[in-house]
Amino acid sequence: METQSNFIKTIMEQDIENKKHTKIITRFPPEPNGYLHIGHARAIVQNFELAKLFGGTTNLRYDDTNPEKEEDKYVKAILEDVKWLGYEPNNVYFASDYFQEMYDRAVLLIKKGLAYVDHSTADEIATQRGTVGKPGVNSPYRNRSVEENLKLFDDMKNGKFKEGECVLRAKIDMTSPNMNMRDPVIYRINYTPHHNTKDKWVIYPMYDYAHPIEDAIEGITHSLCSLEFEDHRPLYDWVVRETEMPLVPRQIEFGRLGIENTVMSKRHLLRLVNSGLVTGWDDPRMPTLSGLRRRGYTPEAIKNFIISTGLSKINSSVSEEMLEAALRDDLSEKTKRVMGVIDPLKVTITNYPEDEFEKISVPYHPNIEEMGSREIIFSREIYIDKEDFVLEKPNKKYKRLALGLEVRLFNAYFIKANDVKYDKDGNIIEVLATYDPETKSGSGFNERKPNGTIQFVSVLNAHPVKYNFFAPMILDTEDEEKDLLERFNKESWQIKTGFIEKAFANAPVNKKIQLLRHGFFNVDIKTTKETLVLNEIVHLKRSY
Ligand code: ATP
Ligand code: MG
Repeated sequence: METQSNFIKTIMEQDIENKKHTKIITRFPPEPNGYLHIGHARAIVQNFELAKLFGGTTNLRYDDTNPEKEEDKYVKAILEDVKWLGYEPNNVYFASDYFQEMYDRAVLLIKKGLAYVDHSTADEIATQRGTVGKPGVNSPYRNRSVEENLKLFDDMKNGKFKEGECVLRAKIDMTSPNMNMRDPVIYRINYTPHHNTKDKWVIYPMYDYAHPIEDAIEGITHSLCSLEFEDHRPLYDWVVRETEMPLVPRQIEFGRLGIENTVMSKRHLLRLVNSGLVTGWDDPRMPTLSGLRRRGYTPEAIKNFIISTGLSKINSSVSEEMLEAALRDDLSEKTKRVMGVIDPLKVTITNYPEDEFEKISVPYHPNIEEMGSREIIFSREIYIDKEDFVLEKPNKKYKRLALGLEVRLFNAYFIKANDVKYDKDGNIIEVLATYDPETKSGSGFNERKPNGTIQFVSVLNAHPVKYNFFAPMILDTEDEEKDLLERFNKESWQIKTGFIEKAFANAPVNKKIQLLRHGFFNVDIKTTKETLVLNEIVHLKRSY
């Protein structure tokens, strides 16, 4: 799927046409303070696809200006996820690569009388800045001389002050209707060692100062970011202009992508990870790219989903079903179809000889011959889903097995249930049935219509499976105040056991298959030789 028409594409087209740019350069700028989630996929896909459309390039740039939250393990995981989505960054950069240049440009601002060291406390600064309806007032430190500011900023850099003792502020306009322009803080002191630069720096640039400089240094032509930065754009342009960056990037905002019944901010996801409610960032219930990958989502489905949600200037929340539909479309033509039973019930075919069995060759996909075929087994003892049997047909719509009724077994025969066996607690543990040798699949038999068709696995051909089923991890609530951890759905990971055809006993991790009448499954990392562990990726649209 190619990126659809959208307002950013139109801007780029015009910029090429008017010769403002000969080459489009974009960047994806995550902060390495957590794993990427499906919201980030919108930024990744759009940045890479839009640049590609014009023969341009895209950088991956870690926005690592906040030493307290950033870690190398996130750096590694982010690159892995970007590559998994199918994108190769033209360059991989770190904002911290540019700390010296950012510092030098801050000195330039001071020299131009456009920045000052402020000894006000954080609370005092907040009060000075006023509110949307109330203009700010100047800080008592606003009119320090250039010399004094240069000396103090140098002292800040050299560790002469404590954290929070002073900051560097841009000198813009304390009465601006745009709060972001009321002398924003552009440098703060922090003694936490940085994941890249260790203890080389003890002052760090703020996002609004750092980001435009990073973009300009890399020659980014179109700097795409989410909508909440719209009000920051005048400051972005101010920084590029006043620090005299030779190349001028243009910030363009787009709406954030949300998915219903999920939380997506890294801050929330980190809380879930730290709480132990999930097994980690790659828990298959997490909306992280690593979680979705482990669950079995494909990069193609995610990409198609992202593109189909379009790109506009409104934040939007889409239903999970859209993503599921993209998955079914992608997986149905890619996966082999096999039979598996979930929560099995034994059926004994009493008129089938005890020491006999037959092999039946079955293609893996009804329309894709190249997928080949395998042999299944039909024998006296087989398993079916417990859900596929009831004592008495409950209604007309019921198209499965019941006492006195006949169903077709996929690729095999009609069987009729005659009797059941119970355990001492009264649970049905076995069905006694008979088969009709005339009804073999493919024989053209059409004298009777069975009460539906169900899948089965012969006891002789059954490999044990542990099935993981997932439900939304965060419960919907009317109560907005209710804490995220209290909204966690403890029932969101269900485990069931069953069997699969032996042909799949050794399927490798991340192999995807379709189980007839159930859905698409992925081999989980926890799989073993003895028991195949399968994650339900998405169920089939149920037809019964
Ligand atoms: P979070 O709130 O989850 O931490 P973030 O915006 O702080 O997200 P960054 O690492 O700063 O995360 O984001 C990198 C890029 O991804 C930014 O350009 C950001 O706008 C974009 N992005 C993050 N979340 C979404 C989303 N839900 N939809 C679209 N773009 C997003
Ligand atoms: Mg962030």
